Amino acid sequence: KKSSPAQTEFYQAAEEVLECLRPLFKRCPHYLEHNIIERIVEPERQIMFRVCWADDNGKAQVNKGYRIQFNSALGPYKGGLRFHPSVTSGTIKFLGFEQIFKNALTGLPIGGGKGGSNFDPKGKSDAEIMRFCQAFMTELYRHIGPTTDVPAGDIGVGAREIGYLYGQYKRMTGRHEGVLTGKGLDWGGSIGRKEATGYGAVYFAQNMLKARKDSIEGKTCLVSGAGNVAIYTIEKLLELGARPITCSDSGGTLHDPDGIDLALLKELKEVDSLSLETYLERRQSARFIKAADYPEDGHAVWHIQADAAFPCATQNELTATDARALLANGVDCVSEGANMPSNADAIDCFIEAGIAYGPGKAANAGGVATSQLEMAQNSSMEQWPLEKVDDKLKAIMADIHQQCADTAAEFDAPTNLVLGANIAGFRRVADAMIDQGIV
Ligand code: NDP
Repeated sequence: KKSSPAQTEFYQAAEEVLECLRPLFKRCPHYLEHNIIERIVEPERQIMFRVCWADDNGKAQVNKGYRIQFNSALGPYKGGLRFHPSVTSGTIKFLGFEQIFKNALTGLPIGGGKGGSNFDPKGKSDAEIMRFCQAFMTELYRHIGPTTDVPAGDIGVGAREIGYLYGQYKRMTGRHEGVLTGKGLDWGGSIGRKEATGYGAVYFAQNMLKARKDSIEGKTCLVSGAGNVAIYTIEKLLELGARPITCSDSGGTLHDPDGIDLALLKELKEVDSLSLETYLERRQSARFIKAADYPEDGHAVWHIQADAAFPCATQNELTATDARALLANGVDCVSEGANMPSNADAIDCFIEAGIAYGPGKAANAGGVATSQLEMAQNSSMEQWPLEKVDDKLKAIMADIHQQCADTAAEFDAPTNLVLGANIAGFRRVADAMIDQGIV
């Protein structure tokens, strides 16, 4: 902490993992003898670069670009790109660190990486987004490749941005290859990738509930966010007979007691890029709570009566105040579509209460797992049908849940899937690092 004081999110993520590893190190001190802790918290490589692009008035604009190649013990670096004004090197470092263990839990051969920029896509024209993406890739292309580092999307990076990034990579290298995932279906994308993170978070909840002889069917659900992960979480919840009644964006929280109108939500967010508040113009049953009116130290979405919760927006969007409100309202299942949405105190509340709590690195791993399926399809020049991708996604999510539950039980904390996820993910990476020697 002394050497890099500005990385609070990274310390938060690292502390959670290291705390969970205590019982493992007691039983298996050889990890300490191999100095794995110091090796695993240090990224293999961090790249920072200037992204200079021309806005629509011809004026030069400058942003910071990042790619962190954190750990390649299990395979090529894999992890998304985030474009959001709040992005700092610390944000990318926390996301890259989480990615190592998440990718390990999928059981697939992928290492951990992440990247992005403090570029704000809001209010930019399509041509500006394209020029920014081209400028970003003009530096990034020299650091990535289908067997070295394969970026994907994250906040602010969807199909449109992946298209512009891919076009520029192809222009710079002359190669049509699987260097990015989340590509368009006609040029190397995988069917089912867009839906995978949200669907996976719901499959994870199903697995947690099944283990408790319960089911998602009929449950009233709170979802936060209104982007890629939130929309496909809502879609799968509706398909399985649950009732999602909320979503949110940076402007506030939408509460529709009749159930979220998915077609309307997709139209507002995927087609027209409008604020969620505009939903009210079309649905009288709904209300909108502005972010300025949120409870102190809390977020309105978690204070609404429901049975289950799916945080799908961003990090630290669920505080201890929110966790206590959820528990008081009877929520006994929380499955995280976002990365680190619950802060440390909120996680403590969930663990103490013994509810079904699926941490992001386990519950949202369906996205990166399906990205790896896209890589497999690219390298064999195939495109698999939806049933095949979805069956694999279901099996992967069931396996991740089983690993977390079995590992938690092995360490005498049977309901603590945070401990299970961290130990199971760490062991796979650490064993590979030991096998590969001091490098
Ligand atoms: P999107 O950009 O598609 O959507 C993000 C949503 O969250 C938007 O509704 C956005 O609102 C809201 N949001 C973002 N930042 C904030 C903030 N600081 N305060 C309030 N609301 C905010 O991103 P994704 O859906 O792809 O990602 C959501 C989460 O899921 C992230 O934590 C991401 O890391 C994680 N994730 C994503 C994966 C994927 O496959 N896409 C895979 C695994 C994890 P607004 O539009 O108003 O800014």
